[in-house]
Amino acid sequence: MHGYDEYTQDLGKSILEYAAERLALDPVPLDGPRTKEQLDAVAGEALTEKGIGGQEALRLFAEELSLACLSTDHPRYLSFIPCAPTREAAMFDLVVGASSIYAGSWLEGAGAVYAENQALRWIADLVGLPEGAGGSFVQGGTIGNLSALVTARETARVRSGARPFRVAATVGSHSSIASACRVMDAELVQVQVGDDLRLTGEALREVLIDEGPESFFAVVATCGTTNFGVIDDLESVAAVCEEFGIWFHCDGAYGGAGLAAPSVRPKYAGIERCDSFIVDPHKWLFAPFDCCALLYRDPALARAAHTQHASYLDVLTDAPDWNPTDYSVGLTRRARGLPFWFSLVANGTQKYSAAIERTLEVTRFAEAQVISRDYLEVVRHADLSILVFRRLGWEPADYHRWSDGLLERQEGFVVPTSHDGETLARFAIVNPLTSEDDITAILDSMA
Ligand SMILES: *Cc1c(COP(=O)(O)O)cnc(C)c1O
Repeated sequence: MHGYDEYTQDLGKSILEYAAERLALDPVPLDGPRTKEQLDAVAGEALTEKGIGGQEALRLFAEELSLACLSTDHPRYLSFIPCAPTREAAMFDLVVGASSIYAGSWLEGAGAVYAENQALRWIADLVGLPEGAGGSFVQGGTIGNLSALVTARETARVRSGARPFRVAATVGSHSSIASACRVMDAELVQVQVGDDLRLTGEALREVLIDEGPESFFAVVATCGTTNFGVIDDLESVAAVCEEFGIWFHCDGAYGGAGLAAPSVRPKYAGIERCDSFIVDPHKWLFAPFDCCALLYRDPALARAAHTQHASYLDVLTDAPDWNPTDYSVGLTRRARGLPFWFSLVANGTQKYSAAIERTLEVTRFAEAQVISRDYLEVVRHADLSILVFRRLGWEPADYHRWSDGLLERQEGFVVPTSHDGETLARFAIVNPLTSEDDITAILDSMA
């Protein structure tokens, strides 16, 4: 099991061969779910006392289990937020897996932590955060948001000596904000938005004054909501946060990547005033799952909130080193920022900007197509690369039948969404391989 012999050597070759073939597929098959009974029939007896051997286990995955997993990097996977890793990032993930790196501390993983911090600095520059800013890569936006909010509350409690318990965010903020509030036993106050769905400082100010500003420890603005890609009015929100001395967290899990695209960068004005920020490179920055960049304007505040103290950790916590684990919930960590770093360094940042611009271009094409077709209607102009639209005359069941049919025919994975109780169609385009032809084919299927 741990030794290296002829058998492991052969298996290693087979596994690398499989990975290389998967990475070469263009396009990759979409695939789709199977029932538990179907999977029982092929894999139900796989776990045995004697083992089935690596080659057979690999065959089981390659020929059965992998086919029951949707390929999130398929160019016509436009549901939720897809994942479209660069080949470099996906390939290098293999190396991270092979290298047994502990990336929680500088002592143990200095080389990896150094590289991750270089990638974080690129993001901090896009946001406009000052020199001392920093943080770490965590599993996803959910843990990133939670970690930032924990830091915000700790900071507010230390500063005020009181126990503020409220968070303000819009109704369009991500479900992970509500989840973080439940975990923290905090109260989420939802600020209403106007027709353009954006949080404004004015609306925020009213809510803070109504509820008592001293009861809030954080305001969450979103730059790129998950359903519509709405960017809140960050400048006015930042001003209100400064006025009341409340922590300003900016959730860019999906939309933060747009900071690297010159055509939309002005929409983020004010973001440089945030106290904390997240972006998921596994969404629109072309890293494999799972990877969220979490940044703080003043990382010392995060250390104070998150550093775990224990006698066996003293050698780490007493050193003046940068230990990524001190900036979030969690202790042990994979060097999950490394595949992103590798690809960024290999390709250079210009190619990232170009790839993001390409997805924006295809989204603009999709919006123009929707406008030009008399059976379709745009629900809200796409600020970024998410487009929500309606098929005139369709009931919810029609949307679901159409979506199921697309997947059955392996023509696309486009699940409906809803807004204000209405079922709608939605494209989330983060894959530079998604083309105008893909969009046209999917829209044709709705005629
Ligand atoms: C996806 C998303 C999250 C949650 O991120 P995970 O990586 O899925 O945990 C948070 N906020 C926004 C705006 C998102 O789009």
